[in-house]
Amino acid sequence: MAINWTETQIEEVIASVIKSLKSGQVTVNNTWDSTQYNGRKLIGVYADMNDAIDAATAGYKAVRAMSLEEREKVISAIRDLCRKEAPVMAQLGVDETKMGKVSHKTAKHILVADKTPGTADIVAQVKTGDYGLTLTEMAPFGVVGSITPSTNPSETVICNSIGMIAAGNGVVFNPHPNAIATSNYAVDLVNRASASAGGPKVLVASVQKPTLDTAQIMYQHPNIRLLVCTGGPGVVRSVLSSGKKAIGAGAGNPPVIVDDTADVKKAAKDIIDGCTFDNNLPCIAEKEVFAFSNIADQLISGMLENGAYKITKEQADKLASIVLVDSKNPKTGIIKKVVNRECVGRDASVLLEKIGVRVGDEVRCIICETDFNHPFVQEELMMPILPIVRVRNIDEAIDLAVKAEHGNRHTAHMHSKNIDHLTRFARAVETTIFVKNAPSYAGIGFGGEGHTTFTIAGPTGEGITSARSFTRYRRCVMADNFRII
Ligand code: NAD
Repeated sequence: MAINWTETQIEEVIASVIKSLKSGQVTVNNTWDSTQYNGRKLIGVYADMNDAIDAATAGYKAVRAMSLEEREKVISAIRDLCRKEAPVMAQLGVDETKMGKVSHKTAKHILVADKTPGTADIVAQVKTGDYGLTLTEMAPFGVVGSITPSTNPSETVICNSIGMIAAGNGVVFNPHPNAIATSNYAVDLVNRASASAGGPKVLVASVQKPTLDTAQIMYQHPNIRLLVCTGGPGVVRSVLSSGKKAIGAGAGNPPVIVDDTADVKKAAKDIIDGCTFDNNLPCIAEKEVFAFSNIADQLISGMLENGAYKITKEQADKLASIVLVDSKNPKTGIIKKVVNRECVGRDASVLLEKIGVRVGDEVRCIICETDFNHPFVQEELMMPILPIVRVRNIDEAIDLAVKAEHGNRHTAHMHSKNIDHLTRFARAVETTIFVKNAPSYAGIGFGGEGHTTFTIAGPTGEGITSARSFTRYRRCVMADNFRII
């Protein structure tokens, strides 16, 4: 299952996407109909959330009746189809949401296919002693209600499906309304894979028009035993107050520290590679840099050599007034800056054009020097814009980086060869993911060890979720017997 992503492999994926596009293999439906794709009806998509839950309940019963071998066969078919149709979903995702990059989204789907754990993740525990044997097994919850984001829509649907089915659950999705066609394409893909491997025709389900109301039906339906939410702070808060067992994978604002022991040239490339991956949509991506003053110039020049474009303070303020907009809380009347959805996940050249700067596609990241209080540092933009704050020493770097992370305890990064600095920052920031001397995506198994997920559950503690996160422990006791030693 392990893969090591190299530059060459990424280039191969990009080349294959371009080839498929040129050969007409990849056709894109521009109508964003969430029920069909190029005239083919999507399987598992219902008008009513109650019907979707009924279908997912039938899917759950079918999974319960399968042997582990049969379950693994279905999962293997999902992996194969996900690899094959990765370029289609990537193109669909970019076209529908207007966010991200086709080549990077293709790579993300292949990562999901290759590195999302299956049934092997479910392991029983045994304790034997004077009083016999006790077995603890990881059992399914039943039907899981999953809320998925617009930033990694089909990736999350497929990753969740593999993990939840491996654990023996059924699953019904309430996908992000802005990515409904892409998400439902992935639901259909899982169902096609299931049917091809001898599983039920409808294994997982979704709705045609997901809304906050359909999410509420999901929260309250007696068949839904576990809620899993991948999204921003609002929706995570809402599932955690649902009264049901919930897993929350929420927002981040990952800081990066670069100290003066780092390989600065490599740090510059790694940070730009991570920050620009899928135009900064991943919640783990580098969002702000705290650089030691004595290496800051070298770091910036390394970034410029790797596709960054530096803007002035005045240009940064102008850009901030465009990419962040006022939003009034209807209950409290308090006005707060929020990201302009029209700018999230857009190319650097598109964002620069908004302040009158015209550049080509070779520019993949906008960098600027700011102070700590600048909104680029404080807000989770999810755009290829990277503020750099100069710091005097490690104390100041850690203090500011921890504050910029806002207690999300999501992800943080550091480039350093000083193990005391690395350890101090990791201890202080307490994030679910801490990446040392690599691009952010190494933290989800892309060029780093370990399995992948697109549901990183910091608030509720499951961390890098996998099949076992979607299980409940059950104990079976045999008193006085079965200890055979
Ligand atoms: P979002 O928060 O806008 O929406 C997520 C989903 O929740 C959508 O389906 C939306 O319609 C729904 N929703 C929103 N409010 C709701 C409510 N009160 N009740 C029920 N449903 C509600 O998410 P997005 O903009 O697509 O994703 C970006 C955010 O998600 C960022 O903050 C990012 O950091 C975070 N994210 C986190 C992870 C993770 O693994 N921790 C992964 C991806 C994205």
